[in-house]
Amino acid sequence: MEKALVRISFFHSVKNIDFQLPKGRVYNYNIGEVTNMGIRDEYNFEYLVNESERLILEELERQLGAPENSAVCHCEDCVLDMAALALNSVRPLYRVSLMGTLYASALEGSPEAEEAKAAVSRSVKKIAANPSHGD
Ligand SMILES: [Zn+2]
Repeated sequence: MEKALVRISFFHSVKNIDFQLPKGRVYNYNIGEVTNMGIRDEYNFEYLVNESERLILEELERQLGAPENSAVCHCEDCVLDMAALALNSVRPLYRVSLMGTLYASALEGSPEAEEAKAAVSRSVKKIAANPSHGD
């Protein structure tokens, strides 16, 4: 019985695997599909951050923790609806972040931060008045 030694390279330019059989013969198979890597496999898109999303979620946390919103529903449906509504009402602010959140403090007190505050406030009121949970 012949046992195959299989060597597979996952670098994007390599499209072949070699089968090394005990007798020393090498069989080479082209396996194009396996090495057909998508852009998400080749690049780390976690470095791509939307500063608006960060601002909105921080602001949502702050406002939901405030005493005046203690009666507002904090269930997952409602909180995600608030986030989605607020996020859709502000301009996205994407940037590439290889260095973490150095940029974060630069937005404090900026027009973007003020807009995030207003967007969250509107969204909390709107969803609280018309929650979608449980229906
Ligand atoms: Zn709810």
